[in-house]
Formats: sequence, structure tokens, C-alpha cells
Amino acid sequence: MPAGARPIELFLLDLEDEQFVLYAPLRRAAAVVNRGAAGVVARYLEDEHVPLTAAEAETIARLTANGLLGGEEPASPAFPEGYGFAPYEVTLFLTSRCNLRCRYCYAEGGKEAHDLTWDQARAAIDFVAQNAVQSGREDFVVGFHGGGEPTLAWGMLVRCVEYAEARAASAGLRVHIHTATTASERRAAGLCERAFQWHQHLVRWAAGHPNHNRPFADGRGSFDDVMRSLKYFDRQGFPYGVRLTVTRDGTPRMAETIAFLGHTLPG
Ligand code: SF4
Repeated sequence: MPAGARPIELFLLDLEDEQFVLYAPLRRAAAVVNRGAAGVVARYLEDEHVPLTAAEAETIARLTANGLLGGEEPASPAFPEGYGFAPYEVTLFLTSRCNLRCRYCYAEGGKEAHDLTWDQARAAIDFVAQNAVQSGREDFVVGFHGGGEPTLAWGMLVRCVEYAEARAASAGLRVHIHTATTASERRAAGLCERAFQWHQHLVRWAAGHPNHNRPFADGRGSFDDVMRSLKYFDRQGFPYGVRLTVTRDGTPRMAETIAFLGHTLPG
């Protein structure tokens, strides 16, 4: 860092149309600025005595008044004294295989097949169960998620659940199970049949254009399939939640999507 520069955690994130987000996480502050203001901030951080025009000084003053600049940088958060890494909750990514090809997929779901091994899954479940015992908890949590559709590794999923339940029973603990799923109808029935005692069944969905954003591998939209599964869950009284992934083009339709879910799904 050059002489005169002040240490500060400040990030410049590209937004749109020559707009940027200035983000200072330790200060819990953010602002939207244009390219000119972003340049002024960069120069000011290099050297706070840099000559500024009146307009540039006004920019710095406003950002300072809003907590993004100036004063002492807050300390980074730290773990409590004596903290040891002993989680009682694990989320297993069973497979990268997926029946969908979501346009926004961060994991390139379905492109290649990578599966968790039983030894890896068992070690992770043992770890959280043991941590729960050692810390005097009454429960631990095992979840399933993607990069892929967990129910495509159905045998492994069931094996993990049964193992976690047996592990919990032998230790006198409760285990909470939850899974994300793309909720194809056939798997919905399987989940219900196996999993009434599971803690939660989380269904992923996309706001705005579910058929556009979340097509199956063959290009068909998944909307009708997911709705059939949700209605099946409702008929069975099976608890679930719906998580929306909101992309930029779906943002204007968030309220409409939530209203639709509120009217269509009970509870
Ligand atoms: S369901 Fe998940 S893993 Fe599969 S394509 Fe969509 S975002 Fe990717």
C-alpha cells in the first residue's frame, strides 16, 4: 500500500450503465456511485491529500458522512477465544448430476458426473454427530444440496438418512434432515414416502420465468412438473419451503411471483 494510503476494506462492484456499488463490509455501508465518483475515491484512497475540485471534495464528504470513508477502520470479526471448529450441521453435495439445466447455474449442474463417496458422507455425518455429543447438544443436522439434484443419488441419499438416524438413536440425539430438490413428480412421491419424519423439504424454484430459467436437460420447462410436485406435497400434508433464485430479468416480477405462490399454495 503506498505511503499516505489508509487501510480500508472497500470494494468496487460493477452494477450497470456505468454505475458501481461501493461496498465497505466492515463498516456495513454501501453506496451506488458513477464512474467519475469511483475514480475520485480511488485517488483519495491512494493519497488523502490529493488535490480535489470542489465537486470531488463534495463527493468525498458525502461518502464520509455516510460511513464509507474516514475514521478508524473497524476491526475484522474474530472467533471467540478458544473457539474450535466443531459444527453440528453438515450439508452434503451428493452429486453434480442434474435433471435441469438452469440458465444461471453456478455449478454447471449436469455437465459432468461427480458423486460423493460413502466414506466421505459417513465421515461427515460421524463428525457432526460426535460434535453434538461433545458439546452437549440434543440434536444435529444433515442436509443435502446441489451442484446437482440430490435425489438423482437416491440410494446414497437414503443410505445417509438411515445412517444419520441410526447414529442419532445410538447417541440419544435427534437428527434433523432437509434436502433441496428440483422436485420432479416421481421423486416427490419417493421423498414423501420415505421422509415424513424429515425436518424440512426445500424446493428450489426461480422467480420470474421458471420455464425460461429452469429447463430440463431436453429443453422443456420445469414449471408444470414442480407445481404438480408441490400439489402432491400439499395433498400429503408434507412440509416444504420454496426458495426463489432471482435473476436480474426476474427482479421486476418478484412481487408477482410471491403473490402467485401465496395464492396457489396453502399455508
Ligand atoms: S437445479 Fe441446481 S444444480 Fe441443477 S442446473 Fe439448476 S442450479 Fe444447477
